[in-house]
Amino acid sequence: MQLGYGFRLYPNGPQRSALARAFGCARVVFNDALCVREDARAAGLPFVTSGELSKRLTASKKTPERAWLAEVSSVILQQSLRDLDTAYRNFFDGLKGKRPKMGPPRFKSRKDTRQAIRFTANAGWEITPGGKLRLPKVGDVTVKWSRMLPSVPTTVTVIKDSAERYFASFVVETGPEDVLAPVTPEVGIDLGLGHFAVLSDGRKIDSPRFLRRAEKRLKKAQRNLSRKARGSNNRNKARLTVARAHARVADARREFHHQLSTQLIRENQAIAVEDLAVKGLARTHLAKSVHDAGWSQFVTMLEYKATRYGRTFVRIGRFEPTSQVCSACGTKDGPKPLHVRQWTCAECGAVLDRDINAAVNVAKAAGLAVTACRARVRPGLLPAPREETGTHPEPHTTTARQRGIAPL
Ligand SMILES: [Zn+2]
Repeated sequence: MQLGYGFRLYPNGPQRSALARAFGCARVVFNDALCVREDARAAGLPFVTSGELSKRLTASKKTPERAWLAEVSSVILQQSLRDLDTAYRNFFDGLKGKRPKMGPPRFKSRKDTRQAIRFTANAGWEITPGGKLRLPKVGDVTVKWSRMLPSVPTTVTVIKDSAERYFASFVVETGPEDVLAPVTPEVGIDLGLGHFAVLSDGRKIDSPRFLRRAEKRLKKAQRNLSRKARGSNNRNKARLTVARAHARVADARREFHHQLSTQLIRENQAIAVEDLAVKGLARTHLAKSVHDAGWSQFVTMLEYKATRYGRTFVRIGRFEPTSQVCSACGTKDGPKPLHVRQWTCAECGAVLDRDINAAVNVAKAAGLAVTACRARVRPGLLPAPREETGTHPEPHTTTARQRGIAPL
């Protein structure tokens, strides 16, 4: 399968200028090509083919108005045309109902928050023996290598985000050598509302402290921005601070999702999650917590890591409200208001924790072998208060309490 590996880049002054030029050229080629196709459509002419666009690009480089396109690698300009084709294909597939509907390709702007260019294998980019990223017509850019690349990448995308940071995203092919040795445990995961995730083995996991801290900083930066006068210099400065704080929250969240998903994939042979159709939930009062929790990003990671490491991943539909069924005996005893966190099954007498009961039901619905007894709570014992729970990136350095294991 193909995987993307992202690393921070630190281009120097001249390299930043060269990259700005490349972003600009890629954008102009994209917009020119979009213009050609839209004009043809407006005139009732047939769809302009990629081959034709490519010919026009070569011709335009010889005109004085577009001569500067020759200053950047021609591969990224060709990639720009590929990107436009992809945008059109996605749009047409959406119209045909093959994928979720999306708008037609839009013109790119210099003010877009994300600028990107793509170098394929034939662009002649390389990783130098000294560990720099050599980009044609840009130079040797410093990379912060935060992890190992599992194999030689074929494509690199250089991105500049709204916080004015640069990244390289490498596309890497992974093979069967990644498959992990089989293990016995299987687990169901429920998206808790009080917790980030609740596992059928009884663990309740909260966002780690580094993420909560980044979120606090973001809130502060946003408050600060709202106090600045419109159009002022200070407001622009504050806006960049907010963009940076935003980026840090997104990074910290992604890091947390990576750590947790890797840990769960290592520990379990099979993993089941409930498909929450986040889109439906996003319109309710649960919107913020669901959105902030980034559940879908996390589930996507679990899914591709399961494929990569040879584990089973099951996404179950919304079969029935998981809180209405006793995970011990299967009795359905009706809905319970949200504030009810614990109850006793009238049929079998099991004392059930709402979240863990749901996680066990998710696992059972997916046909996983989990023991229902985990959902039971001994009367008189309550799960640890929120401040004391939460997962830690390195499980071997944490106690059961820090990892958020509910007292059973
Ligand atoms: Zn029961």
